[in-house]
Amino acid sequence: MKLLLCAALLSTSVAVNAESSRPENISFNQLLAEITAPEALQVPEPSLDKTILAESLDNRYWVTVRAQDKYVRTRLLEAGLDIVEINKDTVSGFAGPYTMGLLSAKAFTVLSRVPAAQYISGLTRDFPAQDAAYHNYKETSDLLAQMAARHSDIASLFSIGKTVEGRDMWCLRINSTAKGSAPSAKPGAFFLGNMHAREHLANEIPLLFAAWLLDHRNDVDVKKYIGSLDIYIVPMLNSDGAEFDIASGSYQYYRKNMSKNANGSRGVDLNRNFDSWWCESGASSYPGSDTYCGPKAFSEPESQAVKNFMEARRNIKTHISYHTYGSTILYPWGGSEDEVSNPKDKQAFIKLAGEMGKLTGYLPQKSSDMYVATGDSCDWAYAATGALSFTFELEGRGFYPGAAIIKAAVEKNVKAAVYLLSVTDNPYKAI
Ligand SMILES: [Zn+2]
Repeated sequence: MKLLLCAALLSTSVAVNAESSRPENISFNQLLAEITAPEALQVPEPSLDKTILAESLDNRYWVTVRAQDKYVRTRLLEAGLDIVEINKDTVSGFAGPYTMGLLSAKAFTVLSRVPAAQYISGLTRDFPAQDAAYHNYKETSDLLAQMAARHSDIASLFSIGKTVEGRDMWCLRINSTAKGSAPSAKPGAFFLGNMHAREHLANEIPLLFAAWLLDHRNDVDVKKYIGSLDIYIVPMLNSDGAEFDIASGSYQYYRKNMSKNANGSRGVDLNRNFDSWWCESGASSYPGSDTYCGPKAFSEPESQAVKNFMEARRNIKTHISYHTYGSTILYPWGGSEDEVSNPKDKQAFIKLAGEMGKLTGYLPQKSSDMYVATGDSCDWAYAATGALSFTFELEGRGFYPGAAIIKAAVEKNVKAAVYLLSVTDNPYKAI
């Protein structure tokens, strides 16, 4: 997103920290209004070598494969298919040459295939004007710094680590008594966004939720949550991938992080890299595939940062990781067809997902009912820390649904996130 406000920010210092940033008059309503402002149009500045971008798509295909159930979908993930759309009897997604070979060798029925570049050019013809409202890494970082500076009595900003390319993974913390990395005994809630590069709406939701919380800090309920909880918001985990995805001015449909793999390919699927049945079902050990699980669990600085962050904060009771798209709210397990064994937790997952489903219109379901995928961050978070962890597949038809979708998506997801805050002191009180 680009707007008058941010144009001003961009022209000032690039330093991003609470001390050096001037507290601008940022408000949630202003942010929402700017999203739809017609003058808010500007093409992102290229920051990467375009020749690298050109290589990312030219050997991939957009394929539609017959798949009647979750078992076939799981096997397709294992073959490296980057499943993007699920329909009743088919799935569609991206496949490189290696996966294309497996699709024929393993007797899947490929119903159609077109070169990815052709598919994408048909979809993104109208681009950048429509989507300038989305926040890139610098804009996201600047906004977080401004929020922390303006509300320095209750908000602080710190980095949970550096990405492969050295970008900070910024965390905005809202806590009335503890700042930065100081420990807190208050029950914690952790909102995480944009683990997958092309899922830009998954940055907007937690980013604007942070703005909403701070704007509404004097509302009776919000005030209570801010006073009694330890709230963490990391809107953009995979900033390398997100920046790569937009750097050329046209979308790359890029999913993974920016690690350089041993075979020369690029990227690990961060949501297959967590240590939960790592690289078993629904993940690929082939580095070139879009569901590549990495050389080992937690091989990536981004997944490692989430691990370290959560392990160091055992007060975190609830967690949402935002992805796109599908309008679903997923709870464990994703890596196994089993249900969670603790009956109280299972009840709480179903109840909380159901309530948040009512507020968003999204379908609550056990993650593996969609397909089995191992190495999942929310499976790991729940198993390792006990935090009740949900994956939101946000709304929209496609990864690039345009800026018009942001406002409604934010508004309903603010409600769901506030609901989660309302039960974070004791998630079991809801059941
Ligand atoms: Zn995702």
